[in-house]
Amino acid sequence: MNKIDKMISTIESEVTYTRQMTGRDKLNPRVVDAMRRVPRNLFVPDDLKPFAFDNGPLPIGHNQTISQPYIVALMTDLLEPDENDIVLEIGTGSGYQTAILSLLVKKVYTMEVIKELNGEARERLKQNYYQNIEAKNANGYEGWPEHAPYDGIIVTAAAPFIPQTLIEQLKPGGHLVIPIGLPYCHQELMRVDKDEQGNIQTNSILGVSFVPMVDAQGGSEQNKESTENQ
Ligand code: SAH
Repeated sequence: MNKIDKMISTIESEVTYTRQMTGRDKLNPRVVDAMRRVPRNLFVPDDLKPFAFDNGPLPIGHNQTISQPYIVALMTDLLEPDENDIVLEIGTGSGYQTAILSLLVKKVYTMEVIKELNGEARERLKQNYYQNIEAKNANGYEGWPEHAPYDGIIVTAAAPFIPQTLIEQLKPGGHLVIPIGLPYCHQELMRVDKDEQGNIQTNSILGVSFVPMVDAQGGSEQNKESTENQ
């Protein structure tokens, strides 16, 4: 079994193992296919490449991490991506989750608060021909109002509460997938569903551990310049 097959098989076992909590015993085959097609080794630092297909998070510099493949797969599945969707991602990090989304939806807007990570991810995605992505260095608490509303919003850092701005930027029928909780405390992966009438329903999916979503004052110097990555 090659490394990617092994990673997929580990993800599928973990999905089965956690089915009582997540309410999902299988991932959408489109999501599995995207996980198979994006080489995770492209998104981790050189010295960690031997561990790129292990089912664990890895450091990517600036005290941040690339998430565990099982969590990336689960969060992508919870988003219920459709090929015509326009999606907002908050917490670009390495760009791994962004690359997976780009294979599943029409357009991905992604925001990263750390300027260097935004620059590196943008370059990496471009060099590896991931298209239909626009990435900017900005604070995700504001969302990206110019392109709202979104069919789905995915946040890959833990927020202390569900940001109202993001709920407002979600389309009726859309899903917001976000870890909620304080750093080093219990965090809960949540899915917020907005129905066609605009009513909100919030479901708790699974206990998780994410780096914190920093607030408006917590980010590094910001560069709002935005470049189409096509
Ligand atoms: N999805 C990423 C995970 C990166 S970790 C990957 O696959 O690699 C979470 C990222 O969220 C970090 O890069 C962190 O800098 C970023 N982040 C934290 N708070 C943020 C905020 N308010 N707005 C945008 N990005 C934020």
